[in-house]
Amino acid sequence: MSILYDTHMHSSFSTDSDTPAQTMVTQALDLNLRGICFTDHMDLDYPPFYFPEDPSAFAADPDEVLQEIRRLREQFGASDPEFHIGFGLEFGMQPHLSGRFSDIARSYPLDFIITSQHLVGGLDPYYPEVWEGHTCAELIRSYYEEMLSNLKTMDQWDTLAHLDYIIRYIPDRGSLLFDSYEAFPDLIDEILLYVISCGKCLEVNTAGYKYGLGQPNPAPSILRRYYELGGRRITIGADAHAPEHIAIGFDEVRKLLLSIGYERYTVFRSRVPEELPL
Ligand SMILES: [Zn+2]
Ligand SMILES: [Zn+2]
Repeated sequence: MSILYDTHMHSSFSTDSDTPAQTMVTQALDLNLRGICFTDHMDLDYPPFYFPEDPSAFAADPDEVLQEIRRLREQFGASDPEFHIGFGLEFGMQPHLSGRFSDIARSYPLDFIITSQHLVGGLDPYYPEVWEGHTCAELIRSYYEEMLSNLKTMDQWDTLAHLDYIIRYIPDRGSLLFDSYEAFPDLIDEILLYVISCGKCLEVNTAGYKYGLGQPNPAPSILRRYYELGGRRITIGADAHAPEHIAIGFDEVRKLLLSIGYERYTVFRSRVPEELPL
């Protein structure tokens, strides 16, 4: 087998992508995938100073996304074998947002909800100045602490995305210290055990291959630890914002996951999980 579904993907409904959703669909079909899930950004209350001219930056309009997905399903859904176009969202966690996310989850026919920690201390670690005045260890610890406490406020989610996302933006990539589970074992164990206790999934995000990390997020050591702790439920997505990144690293990550012991990955339709062989 191979990984036939890419379930983390953005389109021009996300502030950081200018690719029409239809282009993502045609590329996925060219790659012989059996399905994709659009998970455009729902980073409500994204810090306003990064995009002062756009008060709804990083918050897709679910009505617009749904309308386009319905159009694409009519155009491409009847292919043989069936190609599934999922309607998902990526919720950017903040302490005050869980109620609004629950409302969105109840109001739309979503297939899949990804929950993500994109901020630390209310700032986006994508921007190098956020790292100034802190040690990397301080900032990364805060990031995991915020992730854990925010996750505990969320009641509508299916998978925890890119657990060690912040390491993509470490200014000095030479320090691989924070690439590993060993940097913060207690905190990461707590997050993994919480995911397992909720019966939810951990995402294996292959965008790390695009960012030159040469490994997925989370790092292999964290994926090994999740398995050791009893975690078996994983979702897989490339977090593509452009067509050339769809399914990036899928062959490498499949080998890695099989070597750890994983046998299946999960896809969602109408929020219902289905396990598929790796
Ligand atoms: Zn994300
Ligand atoms: Zn994403």
